[in-house]
Amino acid sequence: MAARYAAHEVEERLMKRWLDRSAFRAAAGDPRPAYTIAIPPPNVTGSLHMGHALNDTIQDILIRYQHLRGFNTLWVVGTDHAGIATQNKVEGQLATEGLSKEDIGREAFEKRVWEWRREYGSTIIHQLKRLGCACDYESERFTMDEAYQQAVVRVFVSLYEKGDIYRDVYLVNWCVRCGSAISDLEVEHEDRAAKLYYVMYPIAGSNETLTVATTRPETILGDTAVAVNPKDPRYGRHVGGTAVVPFVGREIPIIADEHVDIGFGTGALKITPGHDPDDWEIGLRHGLPSVSVIGLDGRMNAEAGEFEGLTADEARTAVISRLEQEGLLVKAEDYNHAVSTCYRCGTTIAPLLSLQWFMDMKRLVQPAIAAVEDGRVRFVPGRWGEVYLDWMRGIRPWCISRQLWWGHRIPAYSCEACEHLMVAAAPPTACEKCGGPVRHEEDVLDTWFSSALWPFATLGWPEETERLHTFYPTTVLSTARDIIYLWVARMIMMGLEFRGDVPFKDVIIHPTVLAADGRRMSKSLGTGVDPLELIADYGADATRFGLAYMSSVQDVRFSAERIEMGRNFANKIWNASRLVLQGAEPNAEPRVELATPADRWIFSRLTSVTAEVAGLYESYEFDDVARVLYRFVWNEVCDWYLEVAKTRLYSEEQNERLQVSGNLLVLLEQVMAVLHPLMPFVTEEIYGYLPQVASGQRPPSLFDARYPDVQVAWTDPAAERAMEAFTGVVGGLRSAREELGLARDMVGEVRVLEEEAGAASAIAGLRRAFRQLSGCELVEVISGRAAPTGRFASVEAPGVKALLDLEGLVDVERERERLVSKARKAHGEAAKAQAKLGNQGFLAKAPDAVVAEERTRLATAEAVLEEVRRQYEERVGGGLPLNEGKGR
Ligand SMILES: [Zn+2]
Ligand SMILES: [Zn+2]
Repeated sequence: MAARYAAHEVEERLMKRWLDRSAFRAAAGDPRPAYTIAIPPPNVTGSLHMGHALNDTIQDILIRYQHLRGFNTLWVVGTDHAGIATQNKVEGQLATEGLSKEDIGREAFEKRVWEWRREYGSTIIHQLKRLGCACDYESERFTMDEAYQQAVVRVFVSLYEKGDIYRDVYLVNWCVRCGSAISDLEVEHEDRAAKLYYVMYPIAGSNETLTVATTRPETILGDTAVAVNPKDPRYGRHVGGTAVVPFVGREIPIIADEHVDIGFGTGALKITPGHDPDDWEIGLRHGLPSVSVIGLDGRMNAEAGEFEGLTADEARTAVISRLEQEGLLVKAEDYNHAVSTCYRCGTTIAPLLSLQWFMDMKRLVQPAIAAVEDGRVRFVPGRWGEVYLDWMRGIRPWCISRQLWWGHRIPAYSCEACEHLMVAAAPPTACEKCGGPVRHEEDVLDTWFSSALWPFATLGWPEETERLHTFYPTTVLSTARDIIYLWVARMIMMGLEFRGDVPFKDVIIHPTVLAADGRRMSKSLGTGVDPLELIADYGADATRFGLAYMSSVQDVRFSAERIEMGRNFANKIWNASRLVLQGAEPNAEPRVELATPADRWIFSRLTSVTAEVAGLYESYEFDDVARVLYRFVWNEVCDWYLEVAKTRLYSEEQNERLQVSGNLLVLLEQVMAVLHPLMPFVTEEIYGYLPQVASGQRPPSLFDARYPDVQVAWTDPAAERAMEAFTGVVGGLRSAREELGLARDMVGEVRVLEEEAGAASAIAGLRRAFRQLSGCELVEVISGRAAPTGRFASVEAPGVKALLDLEGLVDVERERERLVSKARKAHGEAAKAQAKLGNQGFLAKAPDAVVAEERTRLATAEAVLEEVRRQYEERVGGGLPLNEGKGR
């Protein structure tokens, strides 16, 4: 074993070995119970970011833990074709060649995308391997692969036939830049400074006008009503009348609708159903026509009259100047409001009317609500279940068509002769009505439509494969909160509809990793931390440990110290294991023999840690897994058990060496198994160095080993208590020796008063270790609270009091001086603090925090003084000679 742990070399070698022997391959039809996770498929254009790193660590911990538990585990892996993102990448690549996608045509463009994927699409999959993810890479899926496409067509046709999918003219969020509709969930909102324009509309048949306020005067051209609130007394007499749209001269009704906000602007609203979602709703309620004045290219169309051909921004300027000329603009005031923007490219969204495909969610949503209400799907933490239910109860139709070239093309065909629409899995050759030629729908489906099928389409559906039957429903989904609606909800609906069962049982919503200063991690803000750099700097185990350690149910701030802590932990584990493996007797068999109090203690602790950590894995409390294991391995196994064991490991007695070696080998093997899900590489590497056993049949890889059984027989509270006394006394004696300035070779003599039966048994039973670790010889153990005599330094620990004999060891005069000087200093501190606290002026003026600080200073000084007084009495004799002055 190398003296230093070389994380990178080990991690690369072990991942290769696991992959070479198909360790993560899951077999269908295996008699063991299945445990399945389908990875949230990263975009094929993606690179591992901090959110992935945390989420993939969580999933890998679960897969590895359940594999150790004996489950037939499958972690489904693959990538999402990510319509817009991928199309943008390839368009960018074409642009460098001076080409556009239109130049080369749809077919050639699709070919280019596939080429792009072959070249760059596996980046993130390689990164998953670097993190140590135990995915079934041999069954990697892609949401555009042949079989997946068939699943998508099957679902579309089925939902169309059931009437859930339809085509309609509808107001959609339109991104001019992307040239596509995007769903409500893909719209982002950004606060922007703008102007609110107050515009006069003449009232037909009178000299009166109505003033409305708008941020988008260019849409005046598409107005089809003016609306006021029925409770607004200012406008009651106008309701039922007619207003005239400026320039266009169109006469439009003045209507009353209770959704009009009396407090906004003048309380009168222009209604443009063709360009505003709220107006669209009002239009539906009042049967208003929709006039579209902005086209899909973002320019004003023929309906805009003289403004035709201008962009919407140009039209705004032109309309405002015309309003001014005609004296119809009352005023313009500064106004901040939320502008809708495209999540992908940031362009302002123009709500536009267009012919789109929709999915009506009303029928599908009910079973998906029930599944969460009755607990068949459980969100962790539970509050996300409420978030899900709230959204589901108010769900709206989903616009599923996208005007892109890359994606699942909608299996719809229209007749070029009679416009008849056909939806079919197999493309029709001619119109079923008139025999005319048919045209394939140009639009593709929203990427989330295909990813909604991920849990079953990746397992072979629509074929009834053995893999599907073995691994569906999956067990756990772990994902980010921002795709609960976009993805989680839709998977639940689709799973229930097409498999008659929920797609997963538990949904873990992992926390968001924020930058160290609490800001969002983002590349553009420069606040991102690249997990691949962390892996390069510290190793994958360290990165996983750090991420798990900082994760909790709340959002977490990234802390590089946690990753460093992980690296130090991996090194500590390596060094301790090396000590065990190199120090163990060559012929030792891993066998537990509870010969000493330390053995009884550590195996009792091992048993409770094994059980506790199992519970924490099961309840997804990975931060506590990291904390509990760190403390156990570092503070108990390394700091104490190993130190005690060393004294036996280097004993003259071979039996003793064999006995402790056997214990150490068992302890090491079990600790490696418990730690493996969290830190798979260092544990697997150490496991490989465990000596071959003649008796058992240990699997060649720790990945295939078993999580240790909880050995109830090892539970021994008395041993734990006794060892607490041992570590407490040894630790106390070390401090006392340091304080007294004892040289290493000055062996002290210690008497232990056992105040609680059995409490000194570890101290008495581990004399050699006691001497080595404390530098003191145990002279005797006295039962009960015998009154001590002579000069001594005392140390207290649970159930015991140890007395270090100072006679002949410490110069009494020097100790007297040391204690008196220490007491004076403490007394001085106390007096200063007291003076301040006795000063009414200070108390009145000083901030609370400063006063509190003084109180703490006083309390600390008094505690020191008290301790010194006790020590003086024990070590020198008599009362501490200190002129304490007056005041107390
Ligand atoms: Zn866009
Ligand atoms: Zn036809």
